Amino acid sequence: DANVIRLIHSREDFDQQVLVILYDLTESRQFEKIQVDFVNNVSHELKTPVTSIEGFSETLLNGAKNDPKKLDHFLDIIHSESVRLSELIQDILSLSKVRKDTAKTDMVNLRDDIEHILEQQSLAIKKHNLTVKQDYVGNPEVTANKEKINLVFRNLIKNAISYNKENGEIKLEVHHDEIENRIKFIIQDTGLGISEADQGRIFERFYRVDRSRSLETGGTGLGLAIVKETLDTLDGDIRIESNLGLGTKFIVDIPL
Ligand code: ADP
Repeated sequence: DANVIRLIHSREDFDQQVLVILYDLTESRQFEKIQVDFVNNVSHELKTPVTSIEGFSETLLNGAKNDPKKLDHFLDIIHSESVRLSELIQDILSLSKVRKDTAKTDMVNLRDDIEHILEQQSLAIKKHNLTVKQDYVGNPEVTANKEKINLVFRNLIKNAISYNKENGEIKLEVHHDEIENRIKFIIQDTGLGISEADQGRIFERFYRVDRSRSLETGGTGLGLAIVKETLDTLDGDIRIESNLGLGTKFIVDIPL
């Protein structure tokens, strides 16, 4: 795709010379398009909860607050829409932060990090009666970008909970290969699975298969985009193995 062609004629010598410079702008045009689409999507996603908060609070102020039933119900909606807004903002900030601090490293204890995430998710784990199995191979202490490793683990664990079934199971495996200096993180759930067609799209920003499939409310459609984009900055990769109706396995590989 040659969008700019510059011709320089030189008539100094007897022979005429022509210099043709071709600039391939495909990639930068694509990047611009992704940016514009992203801003449009973000605006749309933010607008929905804001409109709802505005509408319900106005209705309350206009008198509905005197009806205790309406007061409870509308406050509930305002609260859950505010939670949604703050999750969206958090995820958008994570996406923009992912590109920075690539070289930053800290001492990370992978086991402690995962325990901490499970602790934060313990209400949902209990509520859906999920069993979590963990297996660690090798020294759990590594030198890595702590925040980025946490983003990858946290988003995958949250999904393994949200898209599981009641009384389901989550299996977590962490292998630290000290000779190859890399970690492998495998997370397997017993949920609904992901079709092959969707497997190719779930890492796109804002792509969601079906909101109603989730055990947990919320979700922004950004979780797996954050995982993928974080792994890109770490030269890591992610693979999926999934069977519809049986569950999904994500296999993450990160060089340290
Ligand atoms: P969301 O906020 O919707 O969870 P994600 O980017 O984390 O956004 O995931 C994108 C979509 O991929 C989800 O809407 C869901 O349909 C699907 N998905 C992600 N993880 C799983 C999983 N472990 N099992 C089944 N479906 C999943």
